[in-house]
Amino acid sequence: MGAFDQFPFLADADDIVSEQEDEYASPPALQSVTTWAEASIILSAKDSAEPGPYRADRTPYAREPMDCLSQHSAVEEVILMWGAQTGKTRIGSNWLGYLIDTNPGPVMIVQPTIDMAKRYSRQRVAPMLEESPALRRKVRENRSRDDANTTLLKEFAGGFLAVAGANSAAGLRSMPVRDLFLDEVDGYPMDVDGEGDPCALAEARQSTFSRRKRLRTSTSTTRGVSRIEAAYQAADRCHFEVPCPHCHTHQVLEWGADKAHGIKWDRLDDGSPDRESIRYVCQHCGSEIREHHKASMLPAGRWVAEAPGAQGGRVRSFHLSSLYAPLGWLSWAQLADEWHKAIEAARTGDSSLLRVFVNTRLAETYEEQGDKADQHALRKRAEAYPLRTVPHGGLVVTAGADVQGDRLEAYAWAWGRGEESWLVDHTIIYGDPALPESEPGSPWAALTEWRRLPLQHASGAAISITATAVDSGGHHTDLVYRYARRHAGEHVLAVKGASTPGRAIIAKPSQVEFNHHGKRIKGGAQVWLVGTDTAKHLLYGRMQVQEAGPGYVHTSAALPGYVWKQITAERVVTRYVKGHPRREWVKPAGRRNEALDCAVYAMAAAWHIGVPRHTDAHWQRYEARLRQGDLLALTLDTEAATLEAVAQSEAAQGDEPQATATEQQGPQQQGAKPAPAPRPEPPPQDTRAQPRPPKRHVRRAGWVTKW
Ligand SMILES: [Zn+2]
Repeated sequence: MGAFDQFPFLADADDIVSEQEDEYASPPALQSVTTWAEASIILSAKDSAEPGPYRADRTPYAREPMDCLSQHSAVEEVILMWGAQTGKTRIGSNWLGYLIDTNPGPVMIVQPTIDMAKRYSRQRVAPMLEESPALRRKVRENRSRDDANTTLLKEFAGGFLAVAGANSAAGLRSMPVRDLFLDEVDGYPMDVDGEGDPCALAEARQSTFSRRKRLRTSTSTTRGVSRIEAAYQAADRCHFEVPCPHCHTHQVLEWGADKAHGIKWDRLDDGSPDRESIRYVCQHCGSEIREHHKASMLPAGRWVAEAPGAQGGRVRSFHLSSLYAPLGWLSWAQLADEWHKAIEAARTGDSSLLRVFVNTRLAETYEEQGDKADQHALRKRAEAYPLRTVPHGGLVVTAGADVQGDRLEAYAWAWGRGEESWLVDHTIIYGDPALPESEPGSPWAALTEWRRLPLQHASGAAISITATAVDSGGHHTDLVYRYARRHAGEHVLAVKGASTPGRAIIAKPSQVEFNHHGKRIKGGAQVWLVGTDTAKHLLYGRMQVQEAGPGYVHTSAALPGYVWKQITAERVVTRYVKGHPRREWVKPAGRRNEALDCAVYAMAAAWHIGVPRHTDAHWQRYEARLRQGDLLALTLDTEAATLEAVAQSEAAQGDEPQATATEQQGPQQQGAKPAPAPRPEPPPQDTRAQPRPPKRHVRRAGWVTKW
């Protein structure tokens, strides 16, 4: 089995392998990568905001790490934990150009995925090879050998450049390579195709070369899990110190949100940063440093190692935040704006922007907050609104449903401005979910009835469930697809949880539908992937919000006690998978979590109908609809109803599901009745046992969805 089986068109590939050391053991070039790049690299407008000859003086901090990659340097590996807009990818590209031109050999670049590898090749490698005359010549010499130059394999005189994705083991173990560029390693999967760590797989390709070099770069991710942080810590840990223009003391630029030094600004009336006032306060003399001072500070900077000589000096690691971005790239004012927005969002329990800022701007790992929640604290603040009523502020209702072996569980959540949310109803429907909706006793028929029964808004109007997400990832997948397809017109979605960190709460659907033989039907139902990890972080973050308003999570005191227990059941732990840390959500053995799963699905349904993107105009439209409904609604003493319902529910409350009247009656009994036809609207009668406000006639059921 030849190493080049994947690339049969690479004519003399086997020669390259067999002559490895001899062919490439040429006398080391004395030119450094920086010197070479200044003389030879022409930046393309496709690839760079500053097209033209490469200017090393724009990023003075890049010189030392880049020159560690020069052929005469004894350093074997360079690690860059750098923020966005600092030019770290440029270092990799310059090194590749240098290798092609002055020290050719077998080289591999690894990107997190095959798709990113293709994009990198087209957007980064191709323009460089086209624009820089020295490189154009080298690669052109091989043009006659027809399609040797493909997206993922560039051949040049004396070597080749393979571009691989860390999500495909085949690409990573295809051939021996002398030089390796591992780009954005924190985006790599922990395990690729069951063959282990993609970094280790790629590094193993270098073992036959003694004069090998490696560049490893990334912005960072979660503390304790980040690959780049682990690699950075294990080496000499260099920081870039620049002199204060006033007292001339060298120092590392730090964000300093909780310190006296660092980036500071004055606030405008709306609380946002006054861009004119942005300055850096010197750690030593307290003087104000303006961003234009970078022009003199950066060239006078120096790398200082925390652990000089670590790993025998063979591995060097460098940290650099976006505070050092050259003038005109990413300004301190932009950073201040981003920080302000991130902090505002974090106040509503949404830490996702803050995480992005810490990872990609400060180039630091992020420690998840709010990764566990206190059921007692949440229960203690429960409010006195009855179930099936939506308090003022809640303007649209979504539901999440979970399918178990012997029952369906569903929760309805109301949403308002700033994603403030109210848990407004909960039902458990016993029955065999394998029974299709048309069969007597099917819990699906009862779910339809529950979904269609309008709730009562605090204004007196009726309000319906707009969208429902049903979990298809557990039991009875095919029945869920069938149900979702049948009720697609009422925004019923079949969803499937995907716990990949960072995944969107709801993404585009994929087509999957199975017929009753379990075969896939072309053009059938869709399943929507739900980023359960992301949704849980958001929900747990929001449960920490202490003041009613944006992000706040309201619960009704009328809920059975187990709901708070279930919704707070999980927490984040670090697990080791094949020796690599991984942060995941777990629930203690034996603890139930249906309320949490359903909350996640209801959130996905809300995101599906665009709740996070709603402008005030959207909310006003909901309000107008409710006002219209109010005129039509029957007069009702809501206050009296509220008190009565709360009293009822308190009497019925228990700590385990079996103890509550709600579950033993109601939907379970409905199941024995013939299932109602899917349309028209259900009878205007609430068949739930209790708790609920007194029965009232509801007109225009479902009208809220038709707008
Ligand atoms: Zn100073």
